[in-house]
Amino acid sequence: MEFEPVIGLEVHCRISSKTKMFCRCSNDIFNAKPNTHVCPVCMGFPGMLPLLNEEVVKKGILGALALGCEIPGFSKMDRKSYFYPDLPKGFQISQYDLPVSVKGGITIALSDGSTKRIGITRLHLEDDAGKLTHTAGGTLVDFNRSGTPLMEIVSEPDLRSTEEASLYARQLQKIMRYVGASDADMEKGMMRFDINVSLRPRGQKEFGVRSETKNLNSFRSLEKALDYEIKRQTEILESGGTVVQETRGWDDNKEVTISQRGKEEAADYRYFPEPDIPPIVVTREMVEELKKQIPELHDKKADRYQSELGLPAQDAHQLSHDAALAAYFEAALEVSGEPKKTSNWLLSELMALLNADGLSISESKLAPENLGKLVKLIEDGAITGKIAKDIFKEIYEGNLDPEKAVEEKGLKVMSDTGELEKICQQIIDRNPQIVADFKGGKEKALSGLVGQVMGVTGGSANPKSVNEILRKLLAESTL
Ligand SMILES: [Zn+2]
Repeated sequence: MEFEPVIGLEVHCRISSKTKMFCRCSNDIFNAKPNTHVCPVCMGFPGMLPLLNEEVVKKGILGALALGCEIPGFSKMDRKSYFYPDLPKGFQISQYDLPVSVKGGITIALSDGSTKRIGITRLHLEDDAGKLTHTAGGTLVDFNRSGTPLMEIVSEPDLRSTEEASLYARQLQKIMRYVGASDADMEKGMMRFDINVSLRPRGQKEFGVRSETKNLNSFRSLEKALDYEIKRQTEILESGGTVVQETRGWDDNKEVTISQRGKEEAADYRYFPEPDIPPIVVTREMVEELKKQIPELHDKKADRYQSELGLPAQDAHQLSHDAALAAYFEAALEVSGEPKKTSNWLLSELMALLNADGLSISESKLAPENLGKLVKLIEDGAITGKIAKDIFKEIYEGNLDPEKAVEEKGLKVMSDTGELEKICQQIIDRNPQIVADFKGGKEKALSGLVGQVMGVTGGSANPKSVNEILRKLLAESTL
């Protein structure tokens, strides 16, 4: 029998707010010493009162709007009770029956060229727990992460393969970064996945029994864990066994999922409305205001770069996948007016220097306006592409204004044709053998003369004009 996987994803992204969800501790905890971003509120001391961070709610709604979700006017926070050493309160503050957003969806582009819409059940807000590190001597706990704000994005069980799930997760990451709701940087622990997987005979409508595997923290482990679970369940079903509904963990070294505990039902968490936080009332005006903040998303941008700017698909996708890169490109293009050349200079020359320095585009030493100016100088014929490449590193290092740099260095293309003709004539006079070869039909001999003229002018002549002038002079000469 052939089985079809049914996959749903729960994605946790840390909201990119300045401070934590209910206190004033900094939310920027990466590489911080353990237990330095803590206070009585996020440490769960008795009697402390949480105060909901408005920025967290707004960014959560912003993320939800970018996923096409509906925003109900009224939602609330709930207590989700469970006991674990990294959760000092003894409960998580999450959202149960009235989340801040519902009913959205995004579209993914599959490798066969088709597209598919993946439904999103809800995006809700919740706080994160601390972090346990198990060592030989015992278990260490770091509460820096405790109380940092999360949005949990729950998909419909619409995914049917590892490929679809991976594309969906990557798409979510791009969208969250584009709207600035989350940096979703997995290296910094800002994005994690839980996967729900079940199998059913192809053609059957009812879902099979599912397993849930928690806390996958890279795209690679997401894909590996999905492949493993699909294979594991297929083997159980093919041998006539039954899949157990349970929560599993992922062992990144052995690349296997491991049974952890029976699946909890909602009742196990004893949800009830969080008494210390008033309900969240979202007005229509607030939603409209947030909608205005949503920029053009990467898919639309890539389409526009192709249809309006005439860029090839590869350039369009490369430029638009990162909001900062796209913004840099657009700022440079505004000055240069030349889409393809600007894209070339950005994606090859500038990227090479940034990569060598280990910098991202937002950390670039060169301002986009100056890249735009350089491209314009080439486009206007004021300097040659070769000169531009020669001086680019210097311009980049010092964020120089290319116009001034070219002027100061005397690198402008020789526009004085009289002067250029004089030099060409001198080169012709000095090279009777090459001239004879050329006149004898050796077309290639001309490049020898062009090279010498370029050498004499320090590369500041336009090779095309040199070519023309040489041909003209040679045709006139009677040598
Ligand atoms: Zn705190």
